[in-house]
Amino acid sequence: MDYPLSGIRGIGPARQKAFEAAGIRTVRELVMFLPREYRDLSAPVPLSALRPGDTAAVRVRAAGELSERRARRLLISKLYVTDGTDTLPVVWYNQPWLKNQMAPGRELLLYGKAELKQGYVTLVSPVIESGEGLIPVYRSIQGIPAKALRQCVEAALRLCEGQWPDELPESLRRRYGLCERNFAMRNAHFPDSHEALAAARRRIAFEELLLYQVALSLLRNTAREGVRIAFPPDAPEAFWAALPFAPTAAQRRVLAEVAADLMSDRAMARMVQGDVGSGKTAVAFAAIALAHAGGWQSALMAPTEVLARQHYESAVKLLEPLGMKAGLLVGSLTPKQHRLAHEAVASGAWDVVIGTHALITEGVAYRNLGLVVTDEQHRFGVRQRTMLSEKGDAPNVLVMSATPIPRTLSLILYGDLDISIVDELPPGRTPVQTRIVPESKREAMYGFLRDEVRRGRQVYVVCPLVEESEAVDALPAEAVYEELRTKRLTDLEIELVHGRMKPADKDAALERFRRGEADVLVSTTVIEVGVNVPNATVMVIENAERFGLAQLHQLRGRVGRGAHESWCFLMAEPNPRLRFLASTADGFKIAQKDMELRGPGELFGTRQSGALSAGMNALASDAELLKLTHDEARDILARPDDPEAQAVVALARARFAERMEEVGVN
Ligand code: ADP
Ligand code: MG
Repeated sequence: MDYPLSGIRGIGPARQKAFEAAGIRTVRELVMFLPREYRDLSAPVPLSALRPGDTAAVRVRAAGELSERRARRLLISKLYVTDGTDTLPVVWYNQPWLKNQMAPGRELLLYGKAELKQGYVTLVSPVIESGEGLIPVYRSIQGIPAKALRQCVEAALRLCEGQWPDELPESLRRRYGLCERNFAMRNAHFPDSHEALAAARRRIAFEELLLYQVALSLLRNTAREGVRIAFPPDAPEAFWAALPFAPTAAQRRVLAEVAADLMSDRAMARMVQGDVGSGKTAVAFAAIALAHAGGWQSALMAPTEVLARQHYESAVKLLEPLGMKAGLLVGSLTPKQHRLAHEAVASGAWDVVIGTHALITEGVAYRNLGLVVTDEQHRFGVRQRTMLSEKGDAPNVLVMSATPIPRTLSLILYGDLDISIVDELPPGRTPVQTRIVPESKREAMYGFLRDEVRRGRQVYVVCPLVEESEAVDALPAEAVYEELRTKRLTDLEIELVHGRMKPADKDAALERFRRGEADVLVSTTVIEVGVNVPNATVMVIENAERFGLAQLHQLRGRVGRGAHESWCFLMAEPNPRLRFLASTADGFKIAQKDMELRGPGELFGTRQSGALSAGMNALASDAELLKLTHDEARDILARPDDPEAQAVVALARARFAERMEEVGVN
């Protein structure tokens, strides 16, 4: 099952690449790529039963011709359908090929969401289905259409048919009423029934969660010998005293925890979590200063070049006055600058080097690396994190995350890390005022934006990504940019940033906004990660209903960083979810709610590139199963002589071998 994907029919080199980019390299990994949800086609509902907000399947006939009209950049197709008793309009957006396929009378199985449009219940952008029963829906993979993806998974499953060894001891399976593995894999993708699906997912999640928790316990119980950093006892106070502001109590407490780790013989493995703007960077710099005071070099890795530069500038301001030399290593340096950077790191001329992936990919040799800090860690995989620490001789590792993670999930995701929480914002922040703005108030909002810009402030406009397989009435960033530039805000300076731009162009646009040369920055979610422009006071989020709550919270954290009152406008029709967000500024509460509503995988907005596997992702929010497996894992480790327990431990070791090896468990 660990064969490459090229063995599957329908997967050529291009698709293989696309899968690889999504972290899927083998047939096993493809089969473990579990559906995000299922479309229930087993019981189509009569049109009369459709209420606005319902998502359902309907079996209908085209009642007339498909009509098309254009509005701005949208092509709107409309078709009336009937189930014999009732008639209903259906609309699609930007789907020109529908025209030739919708002869009157055509039978259709549609699956989609009913909405109220101009007073009529309307089916919006439904998928035209052909199957029956429960149809899997996968997270979309760039470059692979949804239908093809389904077929690839089906082919992979067929290849593995009957071959999944049931590794869980039978006694354990019986005790917890878990179904057999092959049955589970098949039904997790193409369920025979709702019951079979539930049994399949429970089985897969149980196994993943149990093994993972056993593995984590093994990791935690292994003391990692590491670099001990002996700094003068007054070093923390000296750092705080040199800062232009007084640290919060939370910053002090977290630094004390970090300092104790640095002093001990055990290598630090600590995550600092805190809401956006809570001042994690200052804590990281403090740790770097302590390492320096103890005679060690540090590295700080950020997920983007813009962030790395931003940290570098702060380091020059905050660390160089303390007698440290900071350097920058990013991909866009000239060859000569690269050479000089490598030399400065190797000779120890730089006490701290700040950079991107370049820190691990360029074969940099360090003089005496004692501390590794990674920022916004959820953007990096576990593998990248540990690759950087391999550069030194078991250096101390500090990871910073702005994604507040509910405690239960934290235990699972980062159970091998100690966790510190910066749970306090620096004083003097005015909380961001969040408002839900329906379409009818759009023009008034633009007036507000103009006023803010007139006062010298700047504005973010964020648009959702449009997944390739989707037909939504969401305007992508480019269209919004054009619209603002040519019609709505013609008097303002506007920049655009999106994922398909060349990194250099993207950085340049961000840089212009950061320097205040642009009033408005239209972007996809690339700005989500740590960009700090204190002068930006307004954030407009288009199609806010399409974002997760935790992601919206992260986004609005980009404003409210200066002394001015700040605003976040959620462009959407009001709903309880968005109202909840508008009512609280507590990132942990929001994360908890988001996890309940959408499952843990969505918390991060992007693919969790680390530990959270498909199985866990599917069910890690199931509190009962979490507790069950947690208790069983503890029980297993308490029975070292029991063959069943031994089998599970061996399985956990095998499953997480790579990670075990990284930290020296044997
Ligand atoms: P984050 O936790 O999101 O990484 P940062 O470390 O970027 O937050 O801090 C956000 C802003 O708050 C920065 O401009 C920083 O200089 C400032 N800041 C950090 N700590 C304090 C403090 N104790 N008092 C006042 N301002 C602070
Ligand atoms: Mg930060």
